[in-house]
Amino acid sequence: MIRIDLDRIPEGSSHIELLEQAGDLEIGEDSGIAAFESPVALELDITRSAGEIVLRGTAGVDVTLDCARCLKQFRVRLEAGLDILCILGRVAPDGAEGCREGVIEIPANSRFIDISGEVRSELMIGVPVKPLCSDACKGLCPVCGADLNEARCSCETERHDGRWDALNKLK
Ligand SMILES: [Zn+2]
Ligand SMILES: [Zn+2]
Repeated sequence: MIRIDLDRIPEGSSHIELLEQAGDLEIGEDSGIAAFESPVALELDITRSAGEIVLRGTAGVDVTLDCARCLKQFRVRLEAGLDILCILGRVAPDGAEGCREGVIEIPANSRFIDISGEVRSELMIGVPVKPLCSDACKGLCPVCGADLNEARCSCETERHDGRWDALNKLK
């Protein structure tokens, strides 16, 4: 859980920088992220008034993704913009939490803001559906499995052989 103590947020404008463990985001293995390579860095401009706190800034983390073509792992930085409105002293009906995107409702007795959900969903937007180590990645030979970025295999010409058309159509 990534959270900010309300005690740390003065009235008016302030700025905080946080480094949080990526594991605190509780991002599952189905996310497409193979591994986290850095803590999550947060920079937030905060504006606090009587009933509201506005958080605006960025979150960034280095991750490892699997290339969809050559299956090799590569490292990339995910950056996300954050724009969160926190409403203080509101108890959500039926105990439901933050149903609106970008809005966190903070119960009157709470001492912190849990921004994990917002940070998680914004960072996940940056994870490509089909990650590529490079736009020019040549991928693997469908015949022998050789990494065509590293070498041409001997069956290169056979890829255009009519015998493979039926197989390729299945993909
Ligand atoms: Zn690749
Ligand atoms: Zn080959």
